[in-house]
Amino acid sequence: MKTELFIDNEWKAAASGKTFGVENPATEEIIAQVAEGGSDDIDLAVKAARRCFESDEWQGLSARKRGKMLLRLADALRANKEEIAQLETSHNGKPLFESHIDIGVAIETLRYFAGWADKLTGETLPTDGNNFIYTVREAVGVVGAIVPWNFPLNLAVWKIAPAIAAGCTVVLKPAEDTPLTALAFAALVEKAGFPAGALNVVPGFGESAGAALVNHPDVDKISFTGSTEVGRLVAQQAAASNKRVTLELGGKSPNIIFADANLKAAIRGAQTGIFYGKGEVCAAGSRVLAHSSVYQQVVEGLAAGAKKRPPGDPLEKTTRLGALVSRKQQERVMGFVGKGVEEGAELVAGGNKVKVNGKGHFVEATVFASVKNDMTIAREEIFGPVVSVMSFDTVEEAVALANDTEFGLAAGVWTQNLSTATRVSRAIRAGTVWVNTYGLFDPAAPFGGYKSSGYGRDLGRAALEGYLETKTVWMAV
Ligand code: NAD
Repeated sequence: MKTELFIDNEWKAAASGKTFGVENPATEEIIAQVAEGGSDDIDLAVKAARRCFESDEWQGLSARKRGKMLLRLADALRANKEEIAQLETSHNGKPLFESHIDIGVAIETLRYFAGWADKLTGETLPTDGNNFIYTVREAVGVVGAIVPWNFPLNLAVWKIAPAIAAGCTVVLKPAEDTPLTALAFAALVEKAGFPAGALNVVPGFGESAGAALVNHPDVDKISFTGSTEVGRLVAQQAAASNKRVTLELGGKSPNIIFADANLKAAIRGAQTGIFYGKGEVCAAGSRVLAHSSVYQQVVEGLAAGAKKRPPGDPLEKTTRLGALVSRKQQERVMGFVGKGVEEGAELVAGGNKVKVNGKGHFVEATVFASVKNDMTIAREEIFGPVVSVMSFDTVEEAVALANDTEFGLAAGVWTQNLSTATRVSRAIRAGTVWVNTYGLFDPAAPFGGYKSSGYGRDLGRAALEGYLETKTVWMAV
């Protein structure tokens, strides 16, 4: 297992010599001691990325060759997917089948953006007869990528792949709880023929390594995924040096079930919408809004689904609910459960922290009914397997409830009525709306937030915009 910093295609100890322990949240064992990057290491990594970016080798590399590098990286990831999926589960606690899905998405994301590398063209523009104007798309430069612990490798690849396709070089800071798969991925980079400095990985803590990356004068762009609170801080600090910033932040996504929905499918969608990924998913459907005529069935269906998903050993094939990422996260989630009860919501399933085989930071799949949208559990992002069910009577009421949140990341709409689906999808202020499905992702489909859920997009052609400048060239003829 790789545990050092990956800078300039070399493995290095931290300048301070410090390391930090990485825990398996299902067993509470420390499974690795990882080099703790600080500001000196970030500086070294940024310098390597800058040197690479400005080198004749990188600037002279054809876009097609950059695309081929990404394809080779995808192949290398595929060849190592079993081992990397195990590692993802061991530091994050998610069931192994979910880690396999994540690695599959990462491979497809690398391939998708590989295809874009040689298709990023500018325009020729009409003007008077004395001039010729054209635009070219150029790489933004050195990118600082900061990612959270919920989809450790996937979210890193969502940033690395478009950045490299656009011609940027990257310094990645993985989350302190889950640095292992980013390091395993870095080990594949040199094999895939990346020049030294093109991709650097520096594990460390947010307030030290993360802040050093955000404040470094030689970083051109910060691509951040994480909490809304830290995202705000990152944007403020990056403003001091006019860095470009994209923010993928939190959510409190509504999943709206209308009276005419295919109820079986809607309930199944609402279950996976909140319990997949232990609810530690930015787009989790954490507020289920059910029409009053189907409300009781939805509550019962969700409660039954919760009971069918007992927390289990993430390495077991049958496990559908793994361990939360850390004790801290478990305590945070349990704090919200307590708040829900205190504020008068009806606890209809789960609500307990548990151990599996006597160990681990697990929380039962939890369902609250009779929730009011002004309760804490309906307003704040819990980031755990806890769903709040509310009822509504009219389409207008459903839309108002759905939009009554500071967030705007995603939403679900369940109805057989095309007009309702279209009207509600249009009225919801969120970056993604799923109709009669929930939680689907595709490398081609842009993903990101409205409102406090952030700005800029990961995935799809839209993601590339965040890594490109437009240069306008005027020529007198
Ligand atoms: P977090 O904001 O605490 O940390 C995210 C990353 O930022 C980590 O790498 C952390 O080390 C770093 N960081 C912390 N303080 C920093 C600072 N001062 N300067 C620079 N970097 C700093 O978030 P988390 O708890 O790890 O992740 C959960 C959050 O991420 C949730 O709010 C979730 O909704 C969000 N998220 C959003 C998306 C999306 O696409 N919108 C996807 C996944 C997760």
